[in-house]
Amino acid sequence: MERTFLMVKPDGVQRGVIGDIVARFERKGFQLVGAKLMQVSRELAEQHYAEHKERPFFGELVEFITSGPVFAMVWEGENVIATARQMMGKTNPQEALPGTIRGDFGLTVGKNIIHGSDSKESAAREIQLFFKEEELVSYSKLMNEWVY
Ligand code: ADP
Ligand code: MG
Repeated sequence: MERTFLMVKPDGVQRGVIGDIVARFERKGFQLVGAKLMQVSRELAEQHYAEHKERPFFGELVEFITSGPVFAMVWEGENVIATARQMMGKTNPQEALPGTIRGDFGLTVGKNIIHGSDSKESAAREIQLFFKEEELVSYSKLMNEWVY
């Protein structure tokens, strides 16, 4: 089953929308397999956003992502990488459609509430960057006789 790395950025944590964001992915039908509130170090931020290190906004991006706690998550499900990107909306919240996370909660491109992996390769890379194997839990929702 496919997995993706999603992260509520410091602005989303500050604005109290962790629960709203988790609820959207739960209701969609995806399965949460790992999550933690954490402070991102400068080193981790630079590794995570390495593909952008030549961009003019790189310094600002690293500064922002390390400015307060983030809520890091791994979600699992069919086509979860592309579907989560759709649910997030465009990178710039001003272009993101209403109904998407960035469209509903964000205002500016520098502070756009959520990160999500953009491919199988980045999902694998980002998951191992943020989580240890033992922090991820696979389980079936169908085996509990108390859920019917
Ligand atoms: P996405 O997060 O949608 O995958 P990118 O990978 O292109 O977008 O960019 C990574 C992050 O860098 C964005 O989520 C955004 O926070 C920030 N960013 C992108 N473009 C700009 C910009 N022009 N100015 C400031 N920050 C930007
Ligand atoms: Mg990206």
